[in-house]
This record gives sequence, C-alpha cells and structure tokens, in this order.
Amino acid sequence: MSTDKLILNGQTVADFMKEDMASKVAILKEKGIQPSLATILVGDDPSSATYVRMKGNACARLGVHSIKVVLSADTTTDELIQEINKLNDDPSVHGILLQHPVPNHIDERAAFDAISIEKDVDGVTTLGFALNAFGDAEFPSCTPQAIMRILDFYNIQIEGKHAVVIGRSPILGKPVSAMLLNRNATVTTCHSKTVNLEEIVKLGDIIIAAVGKPLFVKGDWIKPGAVVIDAGYNKGNVGDVDYEACFVPSAAITPVPGGVGPVTIATLIEHTIKSAYKLSENA
Ligand code: NAP
Repeated sequence: MSTDKLILNGQTVADFMKEDMASKVAILKEKGIQPSLATILVGDDPSSATYVRMKGNACARLGVHSIKVVLSADTTTDELIQEINKLNDDPSVHGILLQHPVPNHIDERAAFDAISIEKDVDGVTTLGFALNAFGDAEFPSCTPQAIMRILDFYNIQIEGKHAVVIGRSPILGKPVSAMLLNRNATVTTCHSKTVNLEEIVKLGDIIIAAVGKPLFVKGDWIKPGAVVIDAGYNKGNVGDVDYEACFVPSAAITPVPGGVGPVTIATLIEHTIKSAYKLSENA
C-alpha cells in the first residue's frame, strides 16, 4: 500500500454499485417485475425508525419498491412471526428485513429464523449465517459484506494480514470475522471480556470496529499503517472509532458518516434485486 493516506469513502463505493443496480432494475421492469423489499419495524426506537426510513428512501432512488410494516412495541413473537410468514408467502415481496433490535420480550432469533432463506436479503437467519461461515451464502449479512466490499474496492490486501475485529454480534462481528478468515486473513475476534484489548488492537493490520460505543477505539491503539474500518454508528453521527485520533497513524480509514453505512444500504438493495431475479426465474 502507498504511504498516502486513503479515505475509504463509502458513498463512492455505493455510487459505483448503483450503476449496475439501476440497469438490473430496468431489465426486471421490462419483464414486468418490480423488485420489492419489505421492512419490519417493531416498536418506536427513533434510531431504528431512521434506519428503516433511510433504507426506504434508498430503495425509492433506485426504483425498488419498499413496503413498510410497522408493529407496536407490545407485539408478541408469535404475532411478529405471523407477519413474517405473510411476507414469505407474498410472491410480490423479494426481500424481508426485520430491523434489529426488536423489543426485549421478543425472541429475535426465532423471528429472524422465520424469514425464508430465499428472502433473507440481510443474511440474518441461522442458515444464512452458517452458509456465510462456509463462504457459500447467497446473501451474506449486509454490513459485513459492505466492509469486505470497501476493502476490495480500494484494493486493500486481506490475505496474510492480521485482522482484529472488535465485536462478536451475529449480524456483524462474527460474520465479518468468518469472511476475513475465508479470505485468508489471520483473525482475532474481540469482545467485552477480552483482556488487553488495546494490546491486541495494536497488532492488527486491519481493524474492524463493531462495538456500539462512540469513539471507543483510540488513536494510540492503532499500529502505524493499519487500515481502520468503523462499522459503528452512534447518536450524534459518530462511529465506534475516534476518527480524528486514528486518522493520524492509519494508512486508510472509513469516515462516519459516509463509510460503511451507505455501502450496507446499497448491499441490501443489491440483494433484493438479485432475489427478484432468482424468484422470477423460479416462478
Ligand atoms: P451489539 O450486538 O451490541 O454487539 C456489540 C459487540 O461489541 C458485542 O460483541 C460486545 O461484546 C462488544 N463489546 C461491547 N463492549 C466492549 C468492550 N468494552 N470491549 C470489547 N468489545 C466490546 O452491536 P452490533 O449490532 O454488532 O453493532 C455494533 C455497531 O455497529 C453499533 O455501533 C451499530 O450501530 C453499528 N451498526 C452499523 C451498521 C451499518 O450499516 N453501518 C449496521 C449494523 C450495526 P459481548 O459479545 O461480550 O457483549
């Protein structure tokens, strides 16, 4: 990698992806198929509502139809699964996104697993997770795939590098760790019980922050020349990385906003379009 500082601009990556998506949507429309994503929001968490709105707006910009299902905070697991089943059975729906997190009383895993694998465009089902671990997922989890896309778009070498992932959630830390491993990185996955986190991060050639804590990763944790990917998104539009401080030692870094977020949304829509293609072929 050159010694020049590289800002890993997610909007540039998303814009690049959109060109291909727009032409695929046009082909589908010629066949009379309107790609369609159903989003399910349970409860009134303002951040989740914002994410769902952003996804709906992005769909509209690309000519993808979006159906918004809003359920009250006291929805039961069974009621939620019934809604998911209706969408599973609806041939006009090509992708289903259940916005995480759902209220605590809901069995989120059971709800995720109710999504049919053909429509699991966010890669959240247990089967989708397992296929991702084998490197065989049709629709890998969107944020992890967005991270890999950014690394590839900017030609960042993965093979042989030591990647340190901070976070082990089933939608982000674990699947991105598997993807990096499948690409022949040496991966260390850290979590809240990790001892000497700072020392481990200092060993990383590629750092993936997926913690959910604003400005958590400090500048003096970063090995000079490391690549820093901030998947976090917290109140006040800040990531999990102290951007100003980590900018200095890093060779390449994603900003927040404008890093992983736009590529995640573009990936979700890309999966929905791909699903519309596949489901229409099988119809
Ligand atoms: P999550 O489910 O809350 O998981 C957070 C992870 O961070 C857990 O594995 C936790 O460890 C670990 N952690 C917490 N405190 C830690 C500490 N002090 N040291 C080391 N590890 C620690 O969060 P998530 O859903 O994966 O999301 C992570 C971040 O990504 C959030 O900021 C979220 O907003 C953002 N996000 C962004 C996008 C996007 O499109 N850009 C999409 C999804 C999520 P334990 O497992 O031990 O609890």
